[in-house]
Amino acid sequence: MSVLRLALPTPLRRLFDYLPPEGMDIDGLPALQAGVRVRVPFGNRELIGLLIETDQHSDIAGYKLKAALEILDQTPPLPDHLFKLARWAAGYYHHPEGDALHQALPVLLRKGAPCQYAHATLWRATAQASLDALSSRAKRQRETLAIVLAQQTGPGHSGGLSSDAIRAEGGDSQALKALAEKGLVEAFEYIPVSHLPGHPADNSTRLLREPALSLNNQQQAAVTAVTSAQGFQPFLLEGVTGSGKTEVYLQIIEATLKAGRQALVLVPEIGLTPQTVSRFKARFNCPVVALHSGMTDRQRLDAWLKARDGLVPIVIGTRSALFTALKHPGILIIDEEHDASFKQQDGFRYSARDLAIARAHREQIPVLLGTATPALESLHNALSGRYHHLKLTHRAGNAKPPAFELLDIRQAALSDGLSTALTRQIADTLQQGNQVLVFINRRGFAPSLSCQSCGHIADCRRCDAHMTLHMKPPHLHCHHCDNQRPIPARCPECGSNEMKAVGSGTERTEQTLEQRFPDYPVLRVDRDSTARKDALEKIMQQVHTGNPCILVGTQMLAKGHHFPDVTLVAILNADGGLFSADFRGMERTAQLIEQVAGRAGRADKPGRVVMQTFHADHPAITRLVCDGYSAFASDELETRRLTQLPPFQHLALLKAEASKQGRAEAFLRAVREHMEQTATLAPQSRFVGPFPSTMEKKAGVFRAQLQLQSAQRADLHRSLQALCLLLEQQPEARKVRWVLDIDPTEV
Ligand code: ADP
Ligand code: ZN
Ligand code: ZN
Repeated sequence: MSVLRLALPTPLRRLFDYLPPEGMDIDGLPALQAGVRVRVPFGNRELIGLLIETDQHSDIAGYKLKAALEILDQTPPLPDHLFKLARWAAGYYHHPEGDALHQALPVLLRKGAPCQYAHATLWRATAQASLDALSSRAKRQRETLAIVLAQQTGPGHSGGLSSDAIRAEGGDSQALKALAEKGLVEAFEYIPVSHLPGHPADNSTRLLREPALSLNNQQQAAVTAVTSAQGFQPFLLEGVTGSGKTEVYLQIIEATLKAGRQALVLVPEIGLTPQTVSRFKARFNCPVVALHSGMTDRQRLDAWLKARDGLVPIVIGTRSALFTALKHPGILIIDEEHDASFKQQDGFRYSARDLAIARAHREQIPVLLGTATPALESLHNALSGRYHHLKLTHRAGNAKPPAFELLDIRQAALSDGLSTALTRQIADTLQQGNQVLVFINRRGFAPSLSCQSCGHIADCRRCDAHMTLHMKPPHLHCHHCDNQRPIPARCPECGSNEMKAVGSGTERTEQTLEQRFPDYPVLRVDRDSTARKDALEKIMQQVHTGNPCILVGTQMLAKGHHFPDVTLVAILNADGGLFSADFRGMERTAQLIEQVAGRAGRADKPGRVVMQTFHADHPAITRLVCDGYSAFASDELETRRLTQLPPFQHLALLKAEASKQGRAEAFLRAVREHMEQTATLAPQSRFVGPFPSTMEKKAGVFRAQLQLQSAQRADLHRSLQALCLLLEQQPEARKVRWVLDIDPTEV
């Protein structure tokens, strides 16, 4: 017997055996390469799986095996390194292998589309074609044939015309059909030349479109270190905001391209940083492919194929672009490596940053993590020598670091969230012809709506959370489950009509600023104001005119923007995260403050940062403000070491949710007890919890989590294996929804 062993996209953590498709020559089986796609029946559906191996034996009796329907590929779509990386990642994250492999493929390939470039169907005239072959009464046919013939003899033709092009020239599709029946024209499949594998890169043009900047010593040292790396080597580029990290990337990429290799750059969110992409495009003469959310699946597959076939030298994308195949891999760059978006938070919960290291190792190339505010995990790796630590401690060019001022607002009276001192500074900055950035990490008008008579607060019915009040347009909105409802005219509790907005979000701050500074434009940047396509780009254009204005927005403004005319950054509410239940609250807060502050004074004009805070004497805040992020981070690392938290311990979370309160927690307790009774936990690992999640009720379900931790990665892994086995066997596990999150970034 011969069987195909497949990884299928199902929630089951196992492989599936199938007989070869009917009619397939068994002798051909050994020639099948691992990684080819196979279409199979599964229940009453069809699935696309990937071949893991062929075998002579199966644990399932032959008569119970179903036959596969079709082998879809001659050669595997994923190069071997990526195929193995995805399989390894499935094991590391204890995630079903078939699903992990699917996520490594472009969407169209997951659906079974041919692994090919988009083809165009074109029409050309046959050898018999001649206008004389048509009667003079067949007017439409004569006109249409004339168009096809003219194209064929014209200069620079591709040998045919699409039916759209024929119609555009005044031809007619009915007539075209008639001509085809008469054998005067024929259709053929055409692949645009630039799509053809092996199309030589254009050597006639120069590599650079604009000259590279001359690097300062620290930048030069970074570029040299990376470009002289042999094989695999991880680097952490820790460069303060405005220190010219992008220029370092650009020159490393230049060297990579000169060596005939490709570069893959991961960024947090392409839509938010159109500038980054344009800087790459402005520098290089060669194609730069940016994989963005506006692309169709077809465009994505074409881009993916071009990268795989070595036709595009530079690929920029977000998290999922980590799986872009490269024919000649040369360098992996992760920009803003600390950013939370590199961790996928549902389904296959991988970290693209961590997998980038694993990928670079397999492909034996250098990998560069760049940021002004390293994640403590990355910093720990750099300090312990696992990563080569590169530093840019000064701003590039003439730019100076911004002056930082803490505004203690425990005494100062706030009006609409702004202190008098801050309002004065904003006025001064605008009068000097400069721009102001006001950061408030809350969208909407106000975080809650409350009754003045009885204290009732409008809550979400599906979450343990208040509804956020929005005024543009007016409604209540839950930011956790997206639930929306109209603003009540009266208090549902006591009937009073004195409902009041409590606190400030971006909309309210925008309104306040507009009232106080009527002569200047106020530009709001948050998820709501930028929902429409191009909205953000329009706002950015206005900022880049350099005219005085006020930008007010959320952390969207913190992401890598270069605002040369912003000289004052005002941080209204950044200290909320200081007392978060998540042990990373402090780290996140510090990163956010440092990144927002980094938008000030990035060019020739000096910048200042004013931070309103209720915790002006908080040691972490003063450390950050006085001594900088590096100093803060080394303190914080020491705290993590003492409290036995990551990166000194490895964590996994088993999260469960159920529609009845208490059920998820009870399930997790049973899991823990079972593991402890059967002593299946590896020696160095231990459980913490279960506890209800920070927001226990969310979107109508009750959530709880059980933490597993270990100082040894291998021990954690072994315990997780035992845990998965138990979960798959436990009948209780079918009544709750559970997921495993390895190296969770939100706890
Ligand atoms: P980062 O990404 O580290 O925040 P950028 O790469 O955006 O910093 O650089 C900030 C500014 O400094 C940009 O305007 C850039 O053109 C400029 N810059 C970078 N390197 C140099 C250099 N070597 N000489 C002069 N200006 C530079
Ligand atoms: Zn009331
Ligand atoms: Zn909700």
